[in-house]
Amino acid sequence: MITESEALAKILEAIPKNTTSESLPLLETLNRRCAAQQRATIPLPGFDNSMMDGYAVRAADTLDPSPIAVIGTQPAGPDLQLTIEAPRHAIRIFTGAPLPKGCDAVIMQEDVTVIDNSISCTEPVVPGENIRLQGSDLCSGQILLQPGDLISPGRIGLLASQGLTHLPVYRLPRIAILSTGDELVPPGTAPLLPGQLYNSNGSMIAAMLLQLGLPITELAHTPDTMADTTSTLQRLSEQNDIIILSGGVSVGDKDHVKPALSELGMPPQLWRIKIKPGKPFLFTHRSMPKPLFIFGLPGNPVSTFVTFQLFVRPALLKWCGTPSSDLSPPTATATLSHEVTNPGDRPHYIRGVLQKGQFTASGLQRSDALFALSEANSLLRTNPDSSIEAGNNVTILKL
Ligand code: AMP
Ligand code: MG
Repeated sequence: MITESEALAKILEAIPKNTTSESLPLLETLNRRCAAQQRATIPLPGFDNSMMDGYAVRAADTLDPSPIAVIGTQPAGPDLQLTIEAPRHAIRIFTGAPLPKGCDAVIMQEDVTVIDNSISCTEPVVPGENIRLQGSDLCSGQILLQPGDLISPGRIGLLASQGLTHLPVYRLPRIAILSTGDELVPPGTAPLLPGQLYNSNGSMIAAMLLQLGLPITELAHTPDTMADTTSTLQRLSEQNDIIILSGGVSVGDKDHVKPALSELGMPPQLWRIKIKPGKPFLFTHRSMPKPLFIFGLPGNPVSTFVTFQLFVRPALLKWCGTPSSDLSPPTATATLSHEVTNPGDRPHYIRGVLQKGQFTASGLQRSDALFALSEANSLLRTNPDSSIEAGNNVTILKL
């Protein structure tokens, strides 16, 4: 058995740096990773303009309240190329409108009294006030995005402001989900016969993928025979970059995944991790004829969930071009609301609820206990043969 950190390092080492990209319409790049450095081609703002509705003035003219003549109007839109040529002249101006020549400030309309075609300033302005200078936000040539950056709504706005309609992003993997087990039937099947249970891992893995923004090519199932397991794995291998399977990875007579993978020339490169729940987890990969990665998650639903979060999620994120600093699950500090003990010889991931800074285990901590998992929003890792008293600060993984 290897440790969690050894297992994760081995998996991440096998996942190559993603170099395949596709150019997509800007809106379709939301939550994807940028595949090529982007630089500004136009400055922001693109021209000196007014920050307010008011009057473009010479700041020195606003020091006394005697009238200033309004000699024109510059709305937002076409630049009318207006100029203030003489002292005590002003131009009516609106937010975002190009700044007339000869002025050095904009006085807000709230700070003037309008008398016929003149204004009287009640508050003086200083040079530069209420003016947005060209390039003050962004210079031409400035780096906007680096490869690996996550595309957020703010970044889509920034790219649109550059006039872009498309962006290269890393390609997403083709991922198939495979459940194994003669006892499983798909949700929707009725009646449920004695001994049968609904396949919940398939939907749960699919949901975890969707949460990461990853599509699923197929939700497949195989009965517990060597022939079916081998042929299904063979078929999915041809059509996908990644297969995430659950169940059948242990040592029971009906656990055919390991021998089937060996038959396909992909014996597990990693099997059994010192962790609870999730010990029988396996991983294998090959690079020829094309890269293929197979994650074998234990069948018990909580084991499936925990090993996905700890080992599959970072690998998928790396595949998608996420920088290594962003692969780990987010953490938070919490106060333990009750004593937690781990008498076992493996690190134990306790499912729980983080609320108002307090972490509380969420009921039955068994590898099949789906209800407690469904209530949980975080995981607490406890060391083997250890106990943590109530009131202690702990680091938890946020789900
Ligand atoms: P296995 O590793 O195949 O022996 O499965 C371990 C346990 O997980 C058994 O109780 C299975 O019935 C259960 N299990 C396996 N696959 C699934 C699944 N897709 N959905 C729900 N339970 C499953
Ligand atoms: Mg099974």
